[in-house]
Amino acid sequence: MSGTLYLVATPIGNLEDITPRARKILETVSTVLAEDTRNTGSLLAKLDIKAKMRSYHDHNEVHAAPHVIAELEDGADIALVSDAGTPVIADPGFVVVRAAVAAGINVVPIPGPCAAISALIASGLPPERFIFENFLPPKSGRRKTLMQSFAIERRTVVFYESPHRIIKVLAEMKEILPRAEVVVARELTKMHEEFLRGTPEELLAHFAKKPPKGEIVVVLNTRKMQDNVSDDSCGDGDDE
Ligand code: SAM
Repeated sequence: MSGTLYLVATPIGNLEDITPRARKILETVSTVLAEDTRNTGSLLAKLDIKAKMRSYHDHNEVHAAPHVIAELEDGADIALVSDAGTPVIADPGFVVVRAAVAAGINVVPIPGPCAAISALIASGLPPERFIFENFLPPKSGRRKTLMQSFAIERRTVVFYESPHRIIKVLAEMKEILPRAEVVVARELTKMHEEFLRGTPEELLAHFAKKPPKGEIVVVLNTRKMQDNVSDDSCGDGDDE
């Protein structure tokens, strides 16, 4: 009988966000595949979880996946974690998940923290339909083209951003999406968690006084801008 591939979410800042089920799985599988064994090692030590780890990351994923599948086919239960949050979401894992599915191996999600979902649900922007854009393209031209598509997007858009680039991205947004409703969610679940809400221009003014730091998720919605209204019920889905 084949083993099971568990996709285990881990805390994104607050250690209390580890679930009892995640703890149990990490303690019982034969191997924990970790994006960075040092990071996961220190997380597991703080959580007092003993596990046998092996490295599994973007650069060895294609090479490592067939070995993982062979072990699963031999009956081993294996867990995959990323540095923080939900594995596979803007993190390695897709290659092995796809291979496991193709091989008929049981793939089991162990849900828990995810920065994108945490930011979305507390953003105050319409959550009923949303798209996740991972990190925006590194090149400004491609980023701006994507932003232009947000101008006619009815769904809320969620993406990850770095503190080093957020000013540049907000400046581009000010040009392309001047009346977008934007939420910058910072340091989620940590001591300095904060949600900054406003237009791109208002957020730029804030960061001019207080430079951005820490981990960031951006949530934005352009419906109000598209409909040219000053207030929005933001309630119940599409209004076409
Ligand atoms: N798989 C992870 C998840 O489920 O959230 C995301 C991994 S992605 C490589 C890392 C990015 O997620 C960070 O650069 C940041 O944009 C966002 N992020 C992770 N933790 C965060 C936190 N505590 N607060 C805000 N953003 C966070």
